[in-house]
Amino acid sequence: DSFHDVDMGEIIMGNINLTRYTCPTPVQKHAIPIIKSKRDLMACAQTGSGKTAAFLLPVLSQIYSDGPGEAAQADSGRYGRRKQYPLSLVLAPTRELALQIYDEARKFAYRSRLRPCVVYGGADIGQQIRELERGCHLLVATPGRLVDMMERGKIGLDYCNYLILDEADRMLDMGFEPQIRRIVEQDTMPPKGVRQTMMFSATFPKEIQILARDFLEDYIFLAV
Ligand code: AMP
Repeated sequence: DSFHDVDMGEIIMGNINLTRYTCPTPVQKHAIPIIKSKRDLMACAQTGSGKTAAFLLPVLSQIYSDGPGEAAQADSGRYGRRKQYPLSLVLAPTRELALQIYDEARKFAYRSRLRPCVVYGGADIGQQIRELERGCHLLVATPGRLVDMMERGKIGLDYCNYLILDEADRMLDMGFEPQIRRIVEQDTMPPKGVRQTMMFSATFPKEIQILARDFLEDYIFLAV
């Protein structure tokens, strides 16, 4: 039982050692190989289970080894740094959770050229736009603020090949389904089957099953 059972590249492995996570939690042990094998995933896991690292580690290592995202870089350049094209997107229900995911992403992305960013409602949008304009490979966002950023032309999802919905049941409870569908089903996001999609939820009621059916392609179901 070790993080070294799966190859995640030297830099990210080094960063895991810096966090002093010695042994993977059950959700990490099972979800990391599934995500590395490029399958879609529906995981039922509680807060505190270590689910954040379970999706961040394989996704960051994948976008790191995919290369610098030339097309995304070129488009960001073409628009004079006004618009960013993240390679991966994490949707989260609250500012608190988004910030926790962002903090963890910063630890794992340390010394890589990967730049995580976070956007959430109820805070100065100008400041968040200035941070985005410095570059963004992994975006952590609450749904409402992301829709706002997309409408302002600050974010394009054309190259977003990794999509994570964290605490999906809480996002639906908070009424975010229209915004989530708008983000995922608009025509610039790579379609399911092209992008890799991972959903995490504490519960698996009917509404989550419908979302999984609509967003995931031939997915693996994991309950820990
Ligand atoms: P999460 O469920 O992702 O919110 O993680 C809960 C807490 O467990 C966070 O404070 C993490 O930093 C910590 N954590 C995650 N994975 C591990 C691990 N493999 N070993 C020790 N602590 C961990």
